Amino acid sequence: MTGMEDNNVLTSTQIVIEDALRKLGYGDDMVELLKEPMRLLTVRIPVRMDDGKTRVFIGFRAQHNDAVGPTKGGVRFHPDVNEIEVKALSIWMSLKCGIANLPYGGGKGGIICDPRKMSFRELERLSRGYVRAISQIVGPTKDIPAPDVMTNAQIMAWMMDEYSRIREFDSPGFITGKPLVLGGSMGRESATAKGVAIMIDEAMAKKNIPVNGARVVIQGFGNAGSFLAKFMHDAGARVIAISDVNGALYNEQGLDIEDLMDRRDSFGTVTNLFKDTISNDELLSLECDVLVPAAIENQITASNADRIRAKIIVEAANGPTTLEATRIVTDRGILLIPDVLASAGGVIVSYFEWVQNNQGYYWSEAEVDLKLREMMVRGFNSVYELHAMKKVDMRLAAYMVGVRKMAEAVRLRGWI
Ligand code: GLU
Repeated sequence: MTGMEDNNVLTSTQIVIEDALRKLGYGDDMVELLKEPMRLLTVRIPVRMDDGKTRVFIGFRAQHNDAVGPTKGGVRFHPDVNEIEVKALSIWMSLKCGIANLPYGGGKGGIICDPRKMSFRELERLSRGYVRAISQIVGPTKDIPAPDVMTNAQIMAWMMDEYSRIREFDSPGFITGKPLVLGGSMGRESATAKGVAIMIDEAMAKKNIPVNGARVVIQGFGNAGSFLAKFMHDAGARVIAISDVNGALYNEQGLDIEDLMDRRDSFGTVTNLFKDTISNDELLSLECDVLVPAAIENQITASNADRIRAKIIVEAANGPTTLEATRIVTDRGILLIPDVLASAGGVIVSYFEWVQNNQGYYWSEAEVDLKLREMMVRGFNSVYELHAMKKVDMRLAAYMVGVRKMAEAVRLRGWI
């Protein structure tokens, strides 16, 4: 146990990217190019607040690499957003797109703000201001944003409208995760969770654990966590614990997920309605079959990894497990399905949404589900097989699969 572990998400990503590229036979030049985003834009966004005063917000948009195609990835609204995090998140998006074999590189954006403390109209002005500030570097064939932590379909709608006004033509393909009536795709809202559920199926099959009756613990009850709880409950699993920023709920017999979904607010907060709660730390060390961190970065660290009593960890959040913790849980025989594979469902259905926007022809939910499953399972098999064949941990295997196509595209374009 180190306690002094470096939890910098960018440096730890760079370590694995370098490792992956070297194992794939690439040299220093490729590592140098792909270890950082090719572009990072920082913007200051003045927003007229409801009290008449103007507040200036800071936003970012990082674009990792566009050798494969336009960059793609969400925009998060959160007080802790920072340059390092946005950079790492853009690299993770490249890896997700690579694993799913989408024609995209990775991008990510964020604004330092607390949407829980802002009014509806203030959020609208902030969303529109952000699009005005980054409009030169984004677009349906350049960089396509989407929802992420604490952003949703309404915010995507405002952003799409602002972009369409700037360009003076309707541009639904500028952004994904839109409401259905504005060119959104069937199944997009629950896509990340559906992808995670598919990964849980695959991982459990490898471990010979039946889904029916399995005990599942989910950290986080936002978009990914809440839909996942419902899918697992519907599949016959027992969701024995969930949590939000305030605390966690635990019931060995299984929680009443429908009731919790009804009562949660739009930011996924629900535990404050209950007296009997446990801490997030206690939740992480519960004995269970599957543990799903579905909240934020650096939750499973060197200081709690040896207390985890799950057979499988499936990362629905981006970056929930540190590198040292990855090593500890892997050594302990816990099967870890890394974020860049497990949470790719969101961007996969975003890709479907963009394709539908470009075609002007819309698919049924069944069609979306079928194609999503196909892509997730293919991604799982490539990562699992490489992990078994090369005897590398699942995270390194996922990075190798994820960065392969991008490095090849860089080389074929003659950049290196
Ligand atoms: N924000 C999601 C992610 O981290 C989705 C990105 C997208 O749909 O482009 O994967």
